[in-house]
Amino acid sequence: MASDDPGRIAENVARVKGRIAAACDRSGRRADEVTLVAVGKYVDLQQTIQLAEAGCVDLGESRPQQLWDKADHWTGPPVKWHMIGHLQRNKARRTIPYCSLIHSVDSWRLLKSLQQVGDAEEMEVHALLEVNISGDASKHGLTAGELPEIIERLPALSRVHVGGLMAMGGRTAAEVEVRAQFAAVRQLRDELSANAPEGVSLAELSMGMSGDYEIAIEEGATLVRVGSVLFEESEPGL
Ligand SMILES: *Cc1c(COP(=O)(O)O)cnc(C)c1O
Repeated sequence: MASDDPGRIAENVARVKGRIAAACDRSGRRADEVTLVAVGKYVDLQQTIQLAEAGCVDLGESRPQQLWDKADHWTGPPVKWHMIGHLQRNKARRTIPYCSLIHSVDSWRLLKSLQQVGDAEEMEVHALLEVNISGDASKHGLTAGELPEIIERLPALSRVHVGGLMAMGGRTAAEVEVRAQFAAVRQLRDELSANAPEGVSLAELSMGMSGDYEIAIEEGATLVRVGSVLFEESEPGL
C-alpha cells in the first residue's frame, strides 16, 4: 500500500475528489456539503504531508499517539486533525488540543472527560457520537438505544459541542446492506434531531470509507473518512 511517489498520491486525491463530486451530483447535493477526511494512518509523516500538499486540509488518524507524533513534527501546509479511532479517557487531555473534531465518542464517561479537559484548557471540544449500526459486537460505538439519553444530557456539557453521528458500515456487508445501514444512520439522526434539546444540532454524518464513501454520500454523509485508496498503486497497464 505504501507509495513513495507524490504524483501518485496527488492523482489518487484528485480521483477521490472527482468521485465525491460525482456522488454529490447524483444525489442533488453541492460538492461543498461533503468534507473529505484523508486518513493517513497507514503511512509515515512524509506521505501524510504529501496528502496535505495534494490539497487535503482535513486529516484523520485513528491512534492518538500517531496523531500527536505527526502533528508535533508537521512541516506541511496547515491542516485540521480529526481523531477517528477509539479514544481512551486517559489520552483525552493530550489529544484534544490537536483536534478540530473527535469523531469517535462512544460513552458518556468520555464526554465527561472531554468536558473536564475543555474546562482545564479553556477550549471548546467538537465531537460526534459513534453509533454501532452494524450490530458488530467487536466494533466500538453506542447502540441506537443509548443515544437519546446521552443527547438529552448534552446541554450540561458547556465545553463539548456534539455536531452529529459517526458510523462504520459492516466490513463484509454487501452493497445493499451497507446502503441500508447508512440510510438507517441518517434516519436515526433525523429522529434524534427532531427530539434534541434546544441548542443541540446533529447536522454532521461521518460515514463512508474507501470501499463505500460514494454510497455514504448518496445516503447523506457530510464527512467521509477515506484512507487506503489514497495510497494505492495504479493498476498495471493503466
Ligand atoms: C482506517 C479507518 C478509515 C479509513 O479506512 P479505509 O478503508 O482505508 O479508507 C475510516 N474510518 C476509521 C474509523 C478508520 O479506522
